[in-house]
Amino acid sequence: MNKSIKHDILDSVKKYEKIVIIRHKKPDGDAVGASLGLKEILRSSFPEKDVRVINSDRAESLDFLGDEDPSADDSFYSGALAVIVDTSTVERISNPKYTLCERVIKIDHHADSEAYGDISWVEGHRSSCSEMIADLYSAFPSELSLGRDAARAIYTGIVTDSGRFRFSSVSGDTHRLTAMLLDTGIDLDVIHANLYMREFHTFKFQASVYKKMQISENGVAYLYIDREMQDEFSLSYEDAGNAVIYMESIKNSLIWIAFIENRDSSVRVRLRSRFVTVNTLAEKYRGGGHACACGATVYSRDEAEKLVKEADLLLKKYKEENEGWL
Ligand code: AMP
Repeated sequence: MNKSIKHDILDSVKKYEKIVIIRHKKPDGDAVGASLGLKEILRSSFPEKDVRVINSDRAESLDFLGDEDPSADDSFYSGALAVIVDTSTVERISNPKYTLCERVIKIDHHADSEAYGDISWVEGHRSSCSEMIADLYSAFPSELSLGRDAARAIYTGIVTDSGRFRFSSVSGDTHRLTAMLLDTGIDLDVIHANLYMREFHTFKFQASVYKKMQISENGVAYLYIDREMQDEFSLSYEDAGNAVIYMESIKNSLIWIAFIENRDSSVRVRLRSRFVTVNTLAEKYRGGGHACACGATVYSRDEAEKLVKEADLLLKKYKEENEGWL
């Protein structure tokens, strides 16, 4: 699928001596996995090129995948190619200097809400952007090379963004491409230990989430994590955000939402759902994302409650009009 775009991407890569790979801000496993995986593929396939991953922030928990590169002067960007991965909108790009590059490529698996770049390869049905990087490699196995470091990063992106291969975005291709990654000999035990072992205090936090979570009349599970709770359990930004996952398997609850107070006056909203489309709701609250996994921002508890009420109505309507949900 999309063979000609992949050809265009490879042609551009071949033309440029300097390539900068960029991902979205506040990175997750897929953003880091896709960017570092692509970097490893390009560096080993074209050792003469200067390929760097440069961003303005990092996710400590993903440090086991290796380092990104330090910031560079404007002169590095001049005449360079920028490849921006896993980032649906310009506002979320983690390195604004991509505008100094001569050519920009977008590779993404989110709904194509905002077109940017000279080449745009967007496949909304893919489990992850990392799956697309694996697919890019598999289209040109005689011209590109895939080593263990690349495979480890890409696997991490796929396993995290697919909810460990459980989400409906997982396809036969996801598994076929993953098999190709496993064939390089990556150590799954080590990857999974890095991803899923938690500090003792996060289990204590998990217990308090179970105590505090609430459920609306029609089954929206939700939780408000204020600064006090974050301080009490010494939670990192990522730890606090993970609370949404703890609510994912409640029977009859097809929508679950975590509100996490930021250090400024804003509140991060993480919305998840089964069957019901909720990104339209996220879009009403300054956000967006996938149909069943998206994010938004609110500015008060009142606004959070308003969002829950709207989600509750959405769920009521869904349950009235559909059958077969659990
Ligand atoms: P998160 O809850 O942060 O894991 O986000 C889930 C999905 O929604 C990710 O694919 C994000 O890219 C997307 N997303 C999260 N927050 C926003 C936002 N404010 N605007 C647009 N997309 C978002």
